[in-house]
Amino acid sequence: MIPAAFDYAAPTTVDEALQALAGAGDREVKVLGGGQSLLPVLRLRMATPELVVDLGRIPELRGVSEDGDALLIGAMTTHSTVNKDPLVRQHAALLSLAAGTVADEQVRHRGTFGGALVHADPAGDLGAPALALDAQMVIAGPGGRRTVAASEFFVDLFTTAVGAGELLVGVRVPKHTGWGARYEKFNRTAQAWSIVGVAATVRAEGGTIAEAKVALTNMGLVPIRASAVERALVGQPATAETIRAAEAHAAEGTSPMADSNADEDYRRHLATVLTGRAVAAAAGV
Ligand SMILES: Cc1cc2nc3c(=O)[nH]c(=O)nc-3n(C[C@H](O)[C@H](O)[C@H](O)COP(=O)(O)OP(=O)(O)OC[C@H]3O[C@@H](n4cnc5c(N)ncnc54)[C@H](O)[C@@H]3O)c2cc1C
Repeated sequence: MIPAAFDYAAPTTVDEALQALAGAGDREVKVLGGGQSLLPVLRLRMATPELVVDLGRIPELRGVSEDGDALLIGAMTTHSTVNKDPLVRQHAALLSLAAGTVADEQVRHRGTFGGALVHADPAGDLGAPALALDAQMVIAGPGGRRTVAASEFFVDLFTTAVGAGELLVGVRVPKHTGWGARYEKFNRTAQAWSIVGVAATVRAEGGTIAEAKVALTNMGLVPIRASAVERALVGQPATAETIRAAEAHAAEGTSPMADSNADEDYRRHLATVLTGRAVAAAAGV
């Protein structure tokens, strides 16, 4: 189907984009990132905005840079770049690996890191790694910029801390240099959306798990930190026995949904199995 008609703004700076949003007044407005989720919604006329503000011509929103002990990833950086960028591979390997599992090459070349985070689909693959890596989301609005921790960013189904008139401009990802990492997901062959996914990154020291960060995709309305798994891992020897004991906690505190792909019990089972696999790979066991 063809979308309903809308006015179109193509700002070249963040300030211009914010002005376009502010100038919309009472009109319904949508921000366009890579369009991989928004365009189908427009074509199905599930949304009929009167104004679309396209972020695609704002160079400052693209790319990966170092910012002290963190990486700064622009909101319009594509999944493909996040997957292949040498800085992300070196300092946030978990994110690189997860981005490489999103959809297919075509979608990864258009879809953006920021768009995926703001879209906040529970089956989306980038929320859990962002949460596990303690990412900080940088949000710009009429009153300036604010930073929101990933743990506060995902509010509900398809809902984040980004408010009306605001933009996600970038994500600050603390460096996890030298940490092992693995993103494990279970999906149907015909599509890459996660039925369940597990993001794990581990720092081992002389055969002991010194630090472990684990988060789950599609085990609730928002990405969930597997805190009980992390507690069961830290300070323990990096062995198959440790991991088996820890994975048993994977579904604690989760509230998985039932759908045509899996019921709640099957999702809990998947979370357990995938946590074991992801942690074992991240810890090199
Ligand atoms: C066939 C197909 C398969 C897919 N498979 C997967 C998969 O396996 N795993 C996965 O994780 N994802 C998957 N996706 C989704 C993909 O990751 C999209 O890139 C993502 O959901 C949205 O990113 P986008 O840049 O395209 O955003 P858009 O579609 O442009 O926007 C999505 C939403 O975010 C808002 N938005 C976008 N950018 C910003 C911003 N900077 N600030 C504020 N609001 C913003 C828009 O207004 C809109 O509401 C798939 C998509 C398709 C089409």
